[in-house]
Amino acid sequence: MAAYVFDLPLPAVPVAGEATLYPVRRIFCVGRNYAGHAREMGSDPTREPPFYFTKPADALVAGGGTIPYPPGTTNLHHEVELVVALSKPVFRATAAEAAGAVFGHAVGLDLTRRDLQNQAKDKGRPWCLGKAFEFSAPISPIRRGSAPILAGEIVLTVNGEVRQHGDIADMIWPIPDVIAHLSQYYHLGLGDLIFTGTPEGVGPIIAGDTLVGRIAGVGELSVAITAAD
Ligand code: MN
Repeated sequence: MAAYVFDLPLPAVPVAGEATLYPVRRIFCVGRNYAGHAREMGSDPTREPPFYFTKPADALVAGGGTIPYPPGTTNLHHEVELVVALSKPVFRATAAEAAGAVFGHAVGLDLTRRDLQNQAKDKGRPWCLGKAFEFSAPISPIRRGSAPILAGEIVLTVNGEVRQHGDIADMIWPIPDVIAHLSQYYHLGLGDLIFTGTPEGVGPIIAGDTLVGRIAGVGELSVAITAAD
């Protein structure tokens, strides 16, 4: 077998309460999965099919911590999200089949360079610069559990002040539906994470801010933003 020309560790997320890591292959993200957030983004929240974007696996900041304010933006936004990790192959699945492919859940932040995302939207261009950048996917340890989380409080505070507050039950497309829909387009499986969208209340953050995301029954994620490097 050929040797790698250099070592490159695989991105991975700790499993809560265990000395184990969940290795990550891909990160899928759902756009506008809560009606309130769809409205604040200027969209009609009627139940059109979900849509997706991706982030590179090495955008993860496993366990949270300190990250620098990213380059190229003056409007970095927080989006707190329930993340689901998959446990087995799933392709062209029904929602019932998809519900059986859950490894566990985590609290994630879909950090967004909103100014760059909006410029891309205006020009009909891809969202990569707005969404898929370094340190753009902080994530808590994954709490193991094969039952899809369908309800529970989701909260984000910035410097102790509540900015986002919702309930997982308000998702337009719950976890089994999202996995089933996405599986019509990809052979999903082990190593795949899905960020399932954010409730309303997104807004800007700056260097010096501390973000804490919490989801009932899942866990907590803390991230501090430091000066741009
Ligand atoms: Mn998002």
